[in-house]
Amino acid sequence: MNESNYNAVSHTARKRFGQNFLQDGLVIDNILRAIVPKSGDQLVEIGPGQAALTQPMVDQLADNSSLNLLEIDRDLAAQLELQFANDQRVNIHLGDALDFDFSSLRQQAEKPLRVFGNLPYNISTPLIFHLLQQAAAEPQADVISDMHFMLQREVVDRMAAPPGSKTYGRLSIMTQYYCEVEPLFDVPPEAFSPKPKVMSAIVRLLPYKTLPLQADQPQMLDKVVRAAFAQRRKTLRNGLKGLISADQLEALNVDPTARAETLDIATFVKIANALK
Ligand code: SAM
Repeated sequence: MNESNYNAVSHTARKRFGQNFLQDGLVIDNILRAIVPKSGDQLVEIGPGQAALTQPMVDQLADNSSLNLLEIDRDLAAQLELQFANDQRVNIHLGDALDFDFSSLRQQAEKPLRVFGNLPYNISTPLIFHLLQQAAAEPQADVISDMHFMLQREVVDRMAAPPGSKTYGRLSIMTQYYCEVEPLFDVPPEAFSPKPKVMSAIVRLLPYKTLPLQADQPQMLDKVVRAAFAQRRKTLRNGLKGLISADQLEALNVDPTARAETLDIATFVKIANALK
């Protein structure tokens, strides 16, 4: 079967799997150009779908590179099995990327993983947290070298937001704690079928090899950040009640009447490290 036969296989997009398939060749080229696949790469694609990004990636894949595909939809995974049956470099994993053990894949590979995908928007935030935790669980293991994702633009804005901005929150802090965040370009709804209701964007995430700021317990940092942003309008004194007192905040040189959105990541790390 050639490529056009695969495209002819009809598939009704499943909303529950966040299926919006890319169909704009220029956008696909620009994504591949942003990733720059290199010889020996160990690539992982989340949600390959109907192979809109996968096929051009395979066409550029060096003989000593590999591409692991994680797809939850049985029908699409079966089509991908057929499409790449004769290609030793491509492995298909049927299952939920949220449960996938990226570090075990890393152990089988010679190099850190390069992860990419046009992510299902309904699970993009938990998926990013899952990946960040996997990348950070064993920093010395160097699990992921980079990630390129298509996300809702609003999510990319939140990831990259600096302190003081309206969109700065838990996603900004936890992403920027682990990674350098580089928004690359916007993608309009017309680039997909079916069309999503919102604008999308491509982001590059580069996990730090050595974290610039070190929380003694990353779970405590997450707990503090969650509590502080649970109600954005609250002062820190109120938002962090039960975790830390106003006196303790003052002792750390943190204004208890300040709002969470004004604090930089270093200050959140300082608060988390004061708690055991
Ligand atoms: N990459 C294709 C493209 O660009 O046309 C499809 C992108 S579509 C937005 C998201 C893809 O992720 C779908 O193929 C969907 O079935 C798959 N998917 C959804 N939830 C998933 C999950 N939890 N784990 C793995 N794949 C998932």
